[in-house]
Amino acid sequence: MTEKTLAIIKPDAVRKKFSGAILARYEKEGFRIRAIKMRALSKAEAEGFYAVHRERPFFSSLVSFMVSGPVILVVLEKDNAILDHRTLMGATDPAKAEKETLRALYGESIEYNAVHGSDSGETAAFEIPYFFSTVELIG
Ligand code: ATP
Ligand code: MG
Repeated sequence: MTEKTLAIIKPDAVRKKFSGAILARYEKEGFRIRAIKMRALSKAEAEGFYAVHRERPFFSSLVSFMVSGPVILVVLEKDNAILDHRTLMGATDPAKAEKETLRALYGESIEYNAVHGSDSGETAAFEIPYFFSTVELIG
């Protein structure tokens, strides 16, 4: 089934100039880039986006990281996009991520892990409209 998922190239990867390599990899792996924009997130936007983690000990650090520089927000589309993107990303901790995954290649720690991806259909249905309006997704 064709699905959409939200990917974020996080501030660490943008800073290290990995954005082009990551976008090229998405296309190589068969994802279509359906919408894309670079943004500096506000603290409120980052807090709202990661609200499910509000009670976690790393929440304030995560929010500070996500507002530490611009991010690239991307809507990707393909068959089975959500799970396939999670596989391509690799484990949250780059040290535990499979070889050749985005986090193994471009992440440096469990926090500075280069990319985000929606983890379920329900999450994608919250995350895509959080950053993209209907007109930005036409086509
Ligand atoms: P994401 O939601 O960004 O795709 P994920 O689903 O693999 O990542 P989550 O458990 O949702 O992992 O954690 C969200 C983000 O919080 C992680 O990607 C990472 O940046 C940060 N994070 C997770 N666990 C830790 C931790 N133990 N210490 C510091 N930061 C963490
Ligand atoms: Mg997550």
